[in-house]
Amino acid sequence: MATRFVALSDTHSLHRQVKLPDGDVLIHAGDFTGRGLRRDVEDFADWLKEQPHRIKIVTAGNHDEFVESHPNEARAIFDSAGVKLLLNESIDVEGFKIWGSPITPEFRNWFFMTKRGTPIAGVWSQIPDDVDILVTHGPAYGHGDLSTAGGMSAPRATGCLDLLLRLRQIKRPRDVHPRIHIFGHIRGGYGTSESDEFPGTTFINASICTEQYRPTNSPIVFRLNRAAGT
Ligand code: MN
Repeated sequence: MATRFVALSDTHSLHRQVKLPDGDVLIHAGDFTGRGLRRDVEDFADWLKEQPHRIKIVTAGNHDEFVESHPNEARAIFDSAGVKLLLNESIDVEGFKIWGSPITPEFRNWFFMTKRGTPIAGVWSQIPDDVDILVTHGPAYGHGDLSTAGGMSAPRATGCLDLLLRLRQIKRPRDVHPRIHIFGHIRGGYGTSESDEFPGTTFINASICTEQYRPTNSPIVFRLNRAAGT
């Protein structure tokens, strides 16, 4: 039987304006706050607790300051709401391995940021080779990462090259890993895409907010069957 997943990201404290579809597993890819204060995290966790999905998983993003400065307290807030917070760690859900990370490449003075090159490649080396659903706050280079923010005249690919290189390492001809990559952060890249380079992998930019921070994009639903023999 297929498991029904609901993906969203970048709600920036506007989560109460989001109409969530039903599903078994809810996954949020970070930037759930605007200013990242404790009360913002608590309000988001309270809202998640009200949702009917059996399993709820979140990572953080570069806006979610309280999670970076007080990770143990943030984890406790989510635990008490029945939500699993993934900070560079994995969880097995209904036979699927899910790994989540709040890290994005350094850009101005935000949170959960790591320098491009060797430092951020070290984070991505922690992604398990057998990951089924990869959840990172930001996109890989070239996949759902086109931005026109900041007054650029033409869209520019702003994703993480080191994350793309890690995806190439864990790619398998038949036993596809990851089957799904969920992210946000580059809000103009909202939507689902596929690529000849990664047959069988679906890239989901689940940003709810637009580049103008209006929460008008819809959560993205997908279904997965467990691979035969697992
Ligand atoms: Mn972000």
